[in-house]
Amino acid sequence: MYHSVSSCTDDPYRITVSPYRLDRQLRWLRGRGLSGVSVGELMRARAAGRAAGLVGLTFDDGYTDFVDGALPLLRRHGCTATVFVLPGRLGGENAWDELGPRKPLLDAQGIRTAAAEGMEIGSHGMMHTDLTTADDTTVERETKQSREMLADITGTDPEGFCYPYGTVDPRAIKAVRNAGYGYACAIDPGALTCMHALPRVHIDASDTSVRLFLKRTLNPLRRKALPPEPQVPSDAGAEAGEDEGAVGSGRTGGGR
Ligand SMILES: [Zn+2]
Repeated sequence: MYHSVSSCTDDPYRITVSPYRLDRQLRWLRGRGLSGVSVGELMRARAAGRAAGLVGLTFDDGYTDFVDGALPLLRRHGCTATVFVLPGRLGGENAWDELGPRKPLLDAQGIRTAAAEGMEIGSHGMMHTDLTTADDTTVERETKQSREMLADITGTDPEGFCYPYGTVDPRAIKAVRNAGYGYACAIDPGALTCMHALPRVHIDASDTSVRLFLKRTLNPLRRKALPPEPQVPSDAGAEAGEDEGAVGSGRTGGGR
């Protein structure tokens, strides 16, 4: 789970990774025979029993620095990723982060640029609203209307949703499912872990190769595994145990 990719060092929410650090982290993945892919691709691979060696990469909020900073590095390392954008704040900024610093968000054209480069576009809701504290009408608008707007912008129905702040509850999961999304990303959904509440690991500027090694080793112990896919044939399901993905299956445990 990434957010912003820039050299800005004012970073009270730990959401910024420098292009240098991202380059090193993507190199680290490649050096271990792992491939960074969008979560949509990871989920399709998982359903087909061929997710071994794949790592889901996500960039939340849809900062303009995704196109300027992350895209060239993803391309250099042969990776794809999912960028979760806010169609209610096109061309706006991260006004929800009280302490700042203000960072510009992608507009419709920027989102189309990312999509044209092979990146998956997912919804982060309309306005970056915490769905667990919003009223029913707002929850429906944040999930459904953002999906419709993204379909208008890119010409494709988005498959993925990402809960703002990573906060999730059964009502939010139901709304995301009803809106038609195939999967949704949380951070640490615990007992709620499912296709619509996938665990992720926060990656930031301090994640050098030693820390990445520790996160890779310890994460399966810390996070609940995604239950095996019901539609996976039993023979393919056995292989899915080798997942390196953002969701482990059975044996390897959740989240990368
Ligand atoms: Zn966010």
